[in-house]
Amino acid sequence: MIIVMKPGTSLEEIERLKGKVLSMGCEIHESTGVNYHILGLIGNTSNIDSDTFLAMESVEKVIHVQEPFKKVNRLFHPEDSVIDVHGRKIGGGHFAVIAGPCSVESEEQILQIAEEVKAAGAGFLRGGAFKPRSSPYSFQGLREDGLDLLKLARAKTGLPIVSELMSTEHLSRFVEDVDIIQIGARNMQNFELLKEVGKIQTPIILKRGLSSTIEELLLAAEYILAHGNENVILCERGIRTFETYTRNTLDLGAIPVIKRLSHLPVIVDPSHAGGLWWLVEPMAKAALVAGADGVMIEVHNDPANAKCDGQQSIKPERFKDLMNSLRQLATIDNKIVSF
Ligand code: PEP
Ligand code: MN
Repeated sequence: MIIVMKPGTSLEEIERLKGKVLSMGCEIHESTGVNYHILGLIGNTSNIDSDTFLAMESVEKVIHVQEPFKKVNRLFHPEDSVIDVHGRKIGGGHFAVIAGPCSVESEEQILQIAEEVKAAGAGFLRGGAFKPRSSPYSFQGLREDGLDLLKLARAKTGLPIVSELMSTEHLSRFVEDVDIIQIGARNMQNFELLKEVGKIQTPIILKRGLSSTIEELLLAAEYILAHGNENVILCERGIRTFETYTRNTLDLGAIPVIKRLSHLPVIVDPSHAGGLWWLVEPMAKAALVAGADGVMIEVHNDPANAKCDGQQSIKPERFKDLMNSLRQLATIDNKIVSF
């Protein structure tokens, strides 16, 4: 249930109403804008009669929220959320470009790619240190050493770093070292992990599960917000369908749907969606035009010999061309590209 206050209601009156809501056993999610003040009620509202509030002069309207997700719901927070990562913004018209290899492989590799994506205009560096591989015999990542190399790349380029966390065991190390923590598709419904990253304030990129609906993605994000971390960026990365030509099927429609349902920024990962390097450019451009708040692109200096996902990685020269196209599209679309 959402209570929309009349503009100009005094703070005392709002506090009085909040006291009433709390006495009914509900939690309050408060949201204020230039011209609005909203109280979102979370908890069991089934026995609350909306007339109780409508009878008050300070209440403009009461809305019953149908969806099971609350804090991520746009009704609870009508304006776009903007996530601030050390001054670099994502969402609310700020388009983020995150680029880098699937996995950190060596000092030389990550430093070279980091310098090149930075020169092309990327705003953030990605690199997997702990890798969720389908086969236990595939390269599992450099783990802690990978995080050290990412930190070195950040020190050299100034780019904030994004890396995937797979287990709560490594959480404190990630909080210390990483600027944005990625929760991968395979862990989207690892609810214990979601609760733990809800207790920190580091921005989280939450990737859509391989076979998850939009509602399941939003409920997974709700776990993180419900535990206290509102710095969540959603990521559409393709879903499993009957189509086998591409690795996954990029659900472009999910972008405007999510933006309608939620205030959280949504970015697109065209690399894992298509699984083919030559699909990255058209899908990244389509994502921007469809309203995404950013893209995450796999870039590798030697895709043929990459330890992971070489077939879907683009070379730095191509990334540079893609950045130029994205900049042009961003201008038409009135977006600010964060670099
Ligand atoms: C990744 O970004 O490297 C990754 C493994 O992605 P996903 O979780 O979307 O498969
Ligand atoms: Mn990958």
